[in-house]
Amino acid sequence: MNTSHISSIEDQNALVFTGNHLLGIEGLSAAEITSLLDLAESYVDFNRQEEKSLTTLCGRTQINLFFESSTRTQASFELAGKRLGADVMNMAVASSSINKGETLLDTAMTLNAMQPNLLVVRHGSSGAVKLLAQKVDCSVVNAGDGQHEHPTQALLDALTIRRNLGCLEGLTVAICGDILHSRVARSNILLLNTMGARVRIIAPPTLLPDHADRLGVEVFHDMRKGLKNVDVVMMLRLQLERMTAALIPSRREYFHHYGLDYDKLAYASPDARVMHPGPMNRGMEIASAVADDLNISLIHEQVEMGVAIRMAVLDALSRERSGGDQ
Ligand code: ASP
Repeated sequence: MNTSHISSIEDQNALVFTGNHLLGIEGLSAAEITSLLDLAESYVDFNRQEEKSLTTLCGRTQINLFFESSTRTQASFELAGKRLGADVMNMAVASSSINKGETLLDTAMTLNAMQPNLLVVRHGSSGAVKLLAQKVDCSVVNAGDGQHEHPTQALLDALTIRRNLGCLEGLTVAICGDILHSRVARSNILLLNTMGARVRIIAPPTLLPDHADRLGVEVFHDMRKGLKNVDVVMMLRLQLERMTAALIPSRREYFHHYGLDYDKLAYASPDARVMHPGPMNRGMEIASAVADDLNISLIHEQVEMGVAIRMAVLDALSRERSGGDQ
């Protein structure tokens, strides 16, 4: 397909998502989530073409402001903005005035004065991105705030599941490992519950948040029991950088009890798929052989879906800002 004449992808259904910002999955309806997934679906095909440039965001400025390190999320937001035609700037936080003691809000107000249209922010403190969104004039996307939410990760996971298993409703999804520190787990639990999936969380008691039972999930401490007949096994990285105390006995012992290998995976449904948001600690939370098994692992597809989802989110937010006239 020749794309040179295409200026934007017109989604077939009206876009139900109506926010000015995307700060979390919390508060999104099933219809809003579905409309973002449907829009992203059209970008999947587009991204597989030789030519990948649209003019949807032509003339708009997108600033990526990452206070925590990132590979997949920052790269895919950058690609997403560029493929949609935006001017994309990555703030080099390490060499910015943040190192001279400037506060988050001063940095945000400085960038705001440059009149961006979209600000994509990752920050180590839960709630920081929401605070920032209240101060600036443009749309803000949460690219991960502390242990709170990582909405585009949950959306790309949902798109990956939907493409491979046909739907989300009625599936049983096990989220395993460091639930306590994981914004990915939190956003996924919210999204999967909203979409009618059944969610199990499997973790040692030290890696569960207080009142985990109130999250609308089933809690397990034993991988073999928790994985029984599940459709999707979502593994989480041990967030060693957020651990202030010794929460796991040793890496070896952790892998023995909670690392995903073929032996534990055998308890899941025979068609079960394996996911991991990355970056992976191979041999700690997941065996390399399982992660690299193309018959069951969706890890590379998750990365691919990340670009499509981020294009959909940037597109949807800028439609809102221009009064839904696109
Ligand atoms: N990349 C994901 C995040 O930023 C998962 C992780 O780092 O473990 O939350």
